[in-house]
Amino acid sequence: MDSSRLVHRGKKSWWSGNVKTLCGLTLPAGTAKAPWFPILLKACPGCEAVHQLTRNGGK
Ligand SMILES: [Zn+2]
Repeated sequence: MDSSRLVHRGKKSWWSGNVKTLCGLTLPAGTAKAPWFPILLKACPGCEAVHQLTRNGGK
């Protein structure tokens, strides 16, 4: 599976430009094309799972 075709959720490091995704990937600066805009792409199941857990706040 080509993970680069998936939309990952993550945080972009302001110092390096790298994106650390919720599923544990580190996308080098420049390769991540707006990973937070799920347009014509499949959402990464790993990121979505972590996102759901995080959003629920563990309550
Ligand atoms: Zn992901």
